[in-house]
Amino acid sequence: MEYRPTKCIEKSERKKIMENYKSNKKHIACISYGKDSLAMLEVIYRGGLPLDEIITCDIYATKTENIHDEEMQKFVEKADDVILKRYGIEVKHIRAEKSFEQYLRQKRTKGDHIGEPNGFPLLFGSWCISKLKTGPMNKYIGDNIQYIGYAIDEKNSNRREMGKYPPMNTIYPLVDENITEEMAMKVCEKLDLVSPTYRGSCRDGCWFCGKQGLDSIRQIYNTDKKKWALLLKWDKISYTRFTPIKQTVAAYGKRFEMENKGLVPIGPKFRWDMLKGDKPRSRKKKKKG
Ligand code: SF4
Repeated sequence: MEYRPTKCIEKSERKKIMENYKSNKKHIACISYGKDSLAMLEVIYRGGLPLDEIITCDIYATKTENIHDEEMQKFVEKADDVILKRYGIEVKHIRAEKSFEQYLRQKRTKGDHIGEPNGFPLLFGSWCISKLKTGPMNKYIGDNIQYIGYAIDEKNSNRREMGKYPPMNTIYPLVDENITEEMAMKVCEKLDLVSPTYRGSCRDGCWFCGKQGLDSIRQIYNTDKKKWALLLKWDKISYTRFTPIKQTVAAYGKRFEMENKGLVPIGPKFRWDMLKGDKPRSRKKKKKG
């Protein structure tokens, strides 16, 4: 079903809450260039909601390089252009004080590893999210009112719950307007603002994320020597491992090198001890009866 604008500000229950909230606050839309946040801008625009600023948080891998590859960077620039022409607001790019690499090298002041570098973020309670994303955004927004583009059918259950019970300074325009992810995509298609990540031609998020899948790590090894060299360098100073399976980046590299030479299988038959030259064990069939 396609999104048709209604006077969401009129019908929204949230209006009553917001009226009681301090009225001299700025209204700031936070975008990530995904379909939901870009569709949210259209919903704000067509629904007549107040909008003062549009911000995005750029993540930098190193001091000078952000996480986008060339294709994604081009899309970001195009989207900024369309947004300025259509909504009359220039997207403000904010960033954390430091890059991923700088935070990874920063010495710990608490916990069991005081004096050691932070290292790669752990699977749970990753330092990167607060330091690189939510921290800078929250600092910028302060107690102003923020718009967040969560869809009504968010796959992430935490986001779904947050959509139902928004904090006082947060509005979820897509939730208020019952916009699904599919409808958000249609809105972006009409505006010709569909990120190349949905075509799978470039990756979404941080290329150094330990939560990414094996195929994605393999792709970095096979296509980007510079990024791989950085991962190797960071791994050497990190007491935590790159991914939750606790293998070194060098071990991953060896695995992919051997895969490329046909010395180890690419699929589920692979075992890490094969890197030492062990052959795959054939599974014994259970005797019937
Ligand atoms: S995508 Fe991964 S590395 Fe980047 S902020 Fe999120 S958890 Fe951290």
